[in-house]
Amino acid sequence: MSSPHTDPMAMTAGTATARPRRAAGGDNTTRPTLAVWKFASCDGCQLSLLDCEDELLAVAGHIDIAYFPEASSRMLGGPYDLSLVEGSITTAHDAERIHTIRDQSEVLITIGACATAGGIQALRNGRDVGEFIDSVYAHPEFISTLETSTPIADHVEVDFELRGCPIDRGQLIEVITAHLSGRPARIPSTSVCTQCKARGTPCVMVANGTPCLGPITMAGCHALCPAYNRGCYGCFGPMESPNVDALWDLFTQLGMNDRAKQRAFHGYNGWVGPGEIQS
Ligand code: SF4
Ligand code: SF4
Repeated sequence: MSSPHTDPMAMTAGTATARPRRAAGGDNTTRPTLAVWKFASCDGCQLSLLDCEDELLAVAGHIDIAYFPEASSRMLGGPYDLSLVEGSITTAHDAERIHTIRDQSEVLITIGACATAGGIQALRNGRDVGEFIDSVYAHPEFISTLETSTPIADHVEVDFELRGCPIDRGQLIEVITAHLSGRPARIPSTSVCTQCKARGTPCVMVANGTPCLGPITMAGCHALCPAYNRGCYGCFGPMESPNVDALWDLFTQLGMNDRAKQRAFHGYNGWVGPGEIQS
């Protein structure tokens, strides 16, 4: 699913202008450069960046958006001060391309469940991908893919992982501005339950017996699903030290069988999250 026009190796073939690397927090005569890269993904996290509107305009005054094909045809070559990477590694070409991007990036931040956990496409991991290809594509002979979908951090060093499917635009702006000002990003590491209680939403698990992954999921979505009377689907991935066993037992008490629980625990972040623990 990655796009050939996002290939930095193609850029270094002569279509782009080489730029000096600039560390964040230095003088303002040269603005730090930002690049946004896509791998296997739906583009939803890049759209979250575009959706920042006013905030993005304010940020744009302090950075030079050097490479962002989703937003602009202006594509400057690296090195880049900050790279945002969306999507997972699913092809041999992408497994090579991410190393080139890492080499060109002072700071590399992955955005979204695809990039930080392999995404929904990681549901194929551990299964026969050839069988999936045969059943989905009319011409499977044209498909070249790896057996697995893996997070960017499985391939190169990552400086920060921003979770979510899609990411939260407020958290994204916080990460970018924190980088620009040379301070740590203030991203919560508590569970969705804390944000659920903060907005005064009745607990759907207690009130209705609706299974909810909120107790083990990283905060960041402002408990959107419980606010609409649905259980959390775990888009933001596991929180720090999740008590998976306790929630597994609670789901049992709510009448779920093992198959249903495994399906609930897999999903957006199953490759790195509690889905693996309980498989
Ligand atoms: S994390 Fe979700 S919204 Fe973001 S690119 Fe992947 S599938 Fe799309
Ligand atoms: S609805 Fe879900 S996220 Fe909200 S308090 Fe209950 S278990 Fe936690």
